[in-house]
This record gives sequence, C-alpha cells and structure tokens, in this order.
Amino acid sequence: MKFGGTSVANLERIHNVARHVKREVDAGHEVAVVVSAMSGKTNELVAWVQDTPKVNGASSPFYDAREYDAVVASGEQVTSGLLAIALQSMGINARSWQGWQIPIRTDNAHGAARILEIDGSDIIKRMGEGQVAVVAGFQGIGPDNRLATLGRGGSDTSAVAIAAAVKADRCDIYTDVDGVYTTDPRIVPKARRMKKVSFEEMLEMASLGSKVLQVRSVELAMVHKVRTFVRSSFEDPDAPGMGDFLNPPGTLICDEEEIVEQEVVTGIAYAKDEAQISLRRVADRPGVSAAIFGPLAEAHINVDMIVQNISEDGSKTDMTFTVPSGDLPKAISVLDANKDKIGFDVAQSESGLAKVSVIGIGMRSHAGVLRRLSRHLPKNPSTSRRSPRRKSRSRS
Ligand code: ASP
Ligand code: MG
Repeated sequence: MKFGGTSVANLERIHNVARHVKREVDAGHEVAVVVSAMSGKTNELVAWVQDTPKVNGASSPFYDAREYDAVVASGEQVTSGLLAIALQSMGINARSWQGWQIPIRTDNAHGAARILEIDGSDIIKRMGEGQVAVVAGFQGIGPDNRLATLGRGGSDTSAVAIAAAVKADRCDIYTDVDGVYTTDPRIVPKARRMKKVSFEEMLEMASLGSKVLQVRSVELAMVHKVRTFVRSSFEDPDAPGMGDFLNPPGTLICDEEEIVEQEVVTGIAYAKDEAQISLRRVADRPGVSAAIFGPLAEAHINVDMIVQNISEDGSKTDMTFTVPSGDLPKAISVLDANKDKIGFDVAQSESGLAKVSVIGIGMRSHAGVLRRLSRHLPKNPSTSRRSPRRKSRSRS
C-alpha cells in the first residue's frame, strides 16, 4: 500500500490511512506501506536548500547534492514514523523503515538516484511475524553510504520496487484521485475511470502528461510485472467494496494479456507549455542530428518530438523538434553557440504550444485514428491568438 502526500497531509489523514491499513491487516494480509512526505513538505525542504547559499551571499547558487538529499529525504522519515505510531495506537504491530535500514540500494545520482537492489529479507521476515512495515518512500542509500533520493514523485517508484522485492500480489497506490481516467476529468467531464490499463499504455500516459504516477514507477512495474492498482485514499476505509481484494474500486495497471478487450483508443493525454524549434537549411548529411542533439543533451534539455524534412535540393533540410517551453531560451542559446559546427541558416521558434496524445494498444492494428482526431481538433478552436494553420500543427 502506498500513500501519497495529500493522503498523509496531516494527523487526521494519517489516522485515516491507518484505518485503510487496519482493514487489510484484519482481512489477513501481510502489509508493507510506503509513504510520501506531507504534501508541500518536500517543496519547502527543496526551497530551503536552494536558498541557503543565497542567504549566505555565496557567489554560486550551487550546493552539495548529497546534502540536498539529506534535507529533502526527511519529510518521509516524519510520515513513516507518524504512521507507525498511529497504527500502534490502534493495536497494530508496526514499525517504520528508512531506506538505509532495509536497505534500498541506489546508484550515485544524488537527487535523481535509481534503485539498484532491494534486500527484502528483513521486512519479509517481520511481515511473516505479523508486523506491518512502514517504509519511507523517495529514498535509498547510495554506494557512497549516503542518503539518496529518487527524483520528485519518487515514492511511487519506492512502492513498486518494494512490491517487486517482497513479491507482493499487488501494489496499491492510494492517492487523491480514485483511479486512472481516459483523460483529464477536470477538462473533459465525459472522462471515464478505466477498470484496467496495460503497462505500455500507462507508460505512454504518464510520459505524455498524466500525473497520476511517476513515469519511472510505471517502467519498473512493467519490467517486474508488478500489478499496480490506483485507488482513492479519501474514501471511507470501511465503505462497502473497499476491502474487496479481487475487485476493489480503482484502476488496475497490468500486463496486456490480462486485458480481454483491447480498445483502439484507451486514453488521451496532453501537455501544455511545449515549444517548437525549427532549424532552417541544415546540411542534409549523416551525423548532423548528433551535432544538434549532442549539445542540447549536454545542457540537459529534453528534446521530445523530432521531424527531419525530406531535402528539396538534396543538400539542405529543415529540422524541427520540441522542448519544454521553460527550456526554450537555453536551447536557443546552445544552438546559437554551436551554429557554425551544426551549420544552419536560422533557428525559428514558437512557445506556448500544447501536445495532445492519443493512446491505445489496439491502434497497432487499426487505421483511421489520426483521421478522427484531425476532424475533431478544428471543432475546438483554441482561444489563443494562434492562426488555424498553426493549430493544425498540434501533433498526435
Ligand atoms: N515527497 C516526494 C516529492 O514530493 C516524493 C513523493 O511524494 O513521491 O517529490
Ligand atoms: Mg506523487
């Protein structure tokens, strides 16, 4: 069971979480719980780290990434202890585990570490003795023997990794929504909650803008085939159906083999704040992509969609790609700095674009999806200043 920041935002909610856990324990399950920090806490900790050099008047805004981890991992230490106490006060045998105590071993990439290995033997033994393991999410221990955090939203990844390590039947992610929807219900009231979605589809949805789960957690679930279930923590823990082990309310993320009816379109994801860059008249020769995308990668700019036009004259082409809007100024300055090496006429750009992605495994063997999508896009004219011609550039 994993509970996110809004689910453990205060003592009352932590008490409510404890009731969810108690329900499962009372039903005879062995339970490990992973918790996030109270919502807003990690942001506050990150800001403290970033502001410390400034307050000291340091000329450089940089700080030691190992100390960043020491500070920002603390939010989960608090909630894991508090939940253990709440469980104990309900008569449930429970204890907290920090990442280093299990241990959850990670690589050395402080601030965005990857889990390398989890030794599940201690918690398995304790769970076998009837003790609930309350694990601090988002953290592990690096090869340098120091705290390492897994990147923002990382406690989803902790939960899936723990589930894989203890060979859990399922990883239940309790969150502030009651499942995964076909699209964002705040924008499209017709959006439906899905009963099941495949790992592949969920990975696409998570990468393309759905914020229900951290992308990396879905990757991990897919690789280790961890059946992952998204459900609400705000429901009354004892409401009818909540304790139904086989068919609880929510969305199951599972292997596509478990999904009998494969939809052509499962979901629609969107991302705002994309920017598009076109390099005009780039030399059409092998290796030119490396010359463009190498320097961008070194500047940690994440390039998304890439189109290289067919060359009109056999020697020059256009290269168009997208980056997050926030990275546009940096991307343009990197490209300008490398202008001679790459060889292009001008870099044109436009920000404030949105990307709409249509997702579904059934599409693999189905024509006509793009036609339907492109018929619908013009029916919903953008409220922005953009011309229809540009709007048609929205990609799918
Ligand atoms: N507390 C961490 C964050 O806010 C990890 C998580 O909540 O998943 O990013
Ligand atoms: Mg989260």
